[in-house]
Amino acid sequence: MTKKITIAIDGFSSTGKSTIAKQLAQKLGYIYVDTGAMYRAVTLYAMQQNYISDTHFNVEDLINDLNNISLSFTFNESLGFAEMYLNDVNVEKQIRTIEVSRLVSKVAEISEVRRKLVSEQQEMGKNKGIVMDGRDIGTVVFPDAELKLFMTASADKRATRRYKELLDRGDKVNFEEILHNVQERDRIDSTREDSPLLEAEDAIEFDNSDMGLKEQFDRIMSLVNTRLEA
Ligand code: C5P
Repeated sequence: MTKKITIAIDGFSSTGKSTIAKQLAQKLGYIYVDTGAMYRAVTLYAMQQNYISDTHFNVEDLINDLNNISLSFTFNESLGFAEMYLNDVNVEKQIRTIEVSRLVSKVAEISEVRRKLVSEQQEMGKNKGIVMDGRDIGTVVFPDAELKLFMTASADKRATRRYKELLDRGDKVNFEEILHNVQERDRIDSTREDSPLLEAEDAIEFDNSDMGLKEQFDRIMSLVNTRLEA
């Protein structure tokens, strides 16, 4: 049987984690899990139930309702990746809006939310052969992952990428608002008490501010190959 490994990709918002994770999963025939999508789906649910808005957050109500949130991924052949489903409804588009981006880091601070999602993520990766991206994958979800990557890039580059992504989707967005959101999420994610965004000691850091996708992919694939040969 061919050896399978676990690849954990962490880093700041909009550092291209999911792009590289999707490419790796496709090349290796591995499962790809976007854990940010799971935190976004819980946030969308909290918005739908009116537990959270820009002006209020009824944390207890959300915690008491967590058992009613069912998250799953279904592979979309034409897109080439798995889309996020919240209680059997495809929410892939809705979870990417700026409204969800504005609130998600507040929801992700809640320990009960993290406990639920981390245990689901560990279950998905128990047979290895997985590429997972997020903020705490190499530190909390899979501390024994064979390959841990930590992605960074300048805030300006990251906001520009996100801005283009949203424009391409046809969203009306403002660059300053995106830049502010990227910086604010990084601040909350890095300073929260439970599982803050941290670079694992044994992670390999990639600053891709000026690195092309092909170069980045080739470098990471050679790291993957050393792990597969080990
Ligand atoms: O990856 P993405 O930017 O979509 O993640 C959205 C938010 O979800 C992050 O800003 C962070 O607050 C939260 N998150 C997290 N832990 C993860 C993945 C995402 O706290 N493993």
